Amino acid sequence: MERMNNKVLIVYTGGTIGMVQDENGSLHPFALDRIIDAVPQLKACAYDIDSVTLDNIIDSSNMTPSLWVDIAEIIEREYERYDGFVVLHGTDTMAYTASALSFMFKNLGKPIVLTGSQLPLGMLRSDGRENIICALEVASGRLARVPEVCIFFESHLYRGNRSTKTSAENFDAFESYNYPSLAKAGINITFKEHLLLPLPAEPLTVRKGFDRRVAILKLFPGITEAVVRSVLATPDLQGVVIETYGSGNAPTDGWFIDALEAAIQRGVIVLNVTQCKAGAVKMRQYAASCDLDRIGVVGGGDITIEAAITKLMYLLGNFPSDKEHIKIRLGQSLRGEITGN
Ligand code: ASP
Repeated sequence: MERMNNKVLIVYTGGTIGMVQDENGSLHPFALDRIIDAVPQLKACAYDIDSVTLDNIIDSSNMTPSLWVDIAEIIEREYERYDGFVVLHGTDTMAYTASALSFMFKNLGKPIVLTGSQLPLGMLRSDGRENIICALEVASGRLARVPEVCIFFESHLYRGNRSTKTSAENFDAFESYNYPSLAKAGINITFKEHLLLPLPAEPLTVRKGFDRRVAILKLFPGITEAVVRSVLATPDLQGVVIETYGSGNAPTDGWFIDALEAAIQRGVIVLNVTQCKAGAVKMRQYAASCDLDRIGVVGGGDITIEAAITKLMYLLGNFPSDKEHIKIRLGQSLRGEITGN
């Protein structure tokens, strides 16, 4: 019996990869057909490719939780028909979308690979061709079973919710500081299979709630009480990520701790994430985090800021009446986004 080709669905959302320059030289998103024309090699690959385009293709600086849901609904609808999915996405907020999708898809059994480029496909030196071809190879499932949301960029496959955009200049634009890359593309695409999430034993579930009533409060020496209090006094605030120093340290001033404690007593969830690119929050390692621990701030371990804010929105959006459950889940790994449990 003739074997059917594997099938990959491309979900095109916009981003530099498909942009063209207007008469003033500014880049705007453009239609997907041009992308396929710009990569004629795609016609020769050993799997079938279909594509869908979001209703509005965007620069990813306009990404929103409702567009995350649109992307997820396309994949959910087509989940059984395809072996994997490639999401073409602007690089600016790709790590946020990858994190959000990773939380939405529980028991994911197929690859969802986000990619994009630093130069549009239509440009001679574009990095887009390599990125899209490798992302499709991974998503086709012919090389390895990858049951996770990933980012492929400039020879590396990263876990999506561990990734961060680190360069607005280099082709090598993403890093995953706290977890090794899952695969490396050279002459072959070589997977480190022991680093991949296990295949799920349960069926896929897709949860689509996101609560936007959250904030990120980044600390810096000299931050004023007025700034801290105004963020925490945001009407209806449900959760805040505080970006602290080093292993989760913050000022020990009475006004600072009091302001946080009052917010926590009002029901606001406070998650502690380090400003450092690598390493983890370790509550109580220094005296400068003991008060945070005492008043009920949750330690975020080695989570990225992108995964932290999307995880907070996701948990608040799907388990709104169970703040204790949310606090416990914030300290645990849901989809491999933190190390340790
Ligand atoms: N501004 C673009 C975007 O994120 C940048 C890119 O795609 O590289 O949509």
